[in-house]
Amino acid sequence: MSLEEKTILVAGAAGFVPSHLSQHYLDLGAKVIGLDNFITGSPQNIEKLSKNSNFKFLECNIYEGLPTLTENIDYVFSLASPASPIDFSEIPLEIMRVNSEGTLNLLNLSKEKGARFLEASTSEVYGDPQEHPQKETYLGHVNPIGPRSCYDESKRFAEALTMSFYRKFNLETRIVRIFNTYGPGMRPNDGRVIPNFINQALKGEDLTVYGDGSQTRSFCFVTDLVEAIHLVMFGDDPTPFNCGNPNEVTILECAEQIIKVLNSSSKISFRELPEDDPKKRKPDLTKLKKMSGYAPKVSFEDGINKTAEFFKKI
Ligand code: UDP
Repeated sequence: MSLEEKTILVAGAAGFVPSHLSQHYLDLGAKVIGLDNFITGSPQNIEKLSKNSNFKFLECNIYEGLPTLTENIDYVFSLASPASPIDFSEIPLEIMRVNSEGTLNLLNLSKEKGARFLEASTSEVYGDPQEHPQKETYLGHVNPIGPRSCYDESKRFAEALTMSFYRKFNLETRIVRIFNTYGPGMRPNDGRVIPNFINQALKGEDLTVYGDGSQTRSFCFVTDLVEAIHLVMFGDDPTPFNCGNPNEVTILECAEQIIKVLNSSSKISFRELPEDDPKKRKPDLTKLKKMSGYAPKVSFEDGINKTAEFFKKI
């Protein structure tokens, strides 16, 4: 697929997933405009993208208003939200504003430019799920006042806003619900389990398992996620799609596998389980598979090795 004549706007371009997505579209020949305020994104990601002359970067707070954009814009990706549990406690208001006012600004821009819009939502809209694996039809089990609610509820709001623009203005909209994703380009101190475990394993420190480690997650390597997001954006269905990898592991198994793959001398120690930590999470990918034939390609072992190489370098 060539996108040479197309212009793509990526909100949150300095972030982990959006920087990979931006690179994907630069590789397909598109012009990419990246927006970020660097609240959690990394300047190194922007430096890397800026090596391509088709990339333009504008520093801004999208919830305070967008910069003037004279270009035609064909596709808008809304990926600007911080997404790690430590962000939920440190910057909850910024998270709520970017997913409400920020998303609204991006939707209005898409309407003005006649662009197709994609909201990067999250598996967090399912909360601590009582249906397993989670299908897109599951309406969720979210604590509206818990420590994760700034993210869960604002992403639910962002989905509602997106569907309102679809219904009221016939805007072409897409929604992806992203499950746990990892890979090179993650913040080493972002507090999430894979960067924590890899960095602990590389240093020979104990891997810190929260609770008894029986909670599960399903981890997707970032290039597989980018492919899934791309398929949804270029598909024709405005309703939400789960995106991720259905390979479910307990957090204890995850720690053991990382120690083994990295041939580390680390041991495992246990810490208190954070409040409202979801007990199970696994995407049902039937809908995406049916629409596009999607299947993740990167094994956990390869993904962990690639991510560890990145952390060794920085
Ligand atoms: N976790 C852990 N040790 C860590 C960091 C996280 O055991 O050092 C657990 C966390 O309690 C959760 C899972 O790993 O059950 C995934 O956490 P993460 O913060 O990566 O993402 P979440 O899926 O909870 O948003």
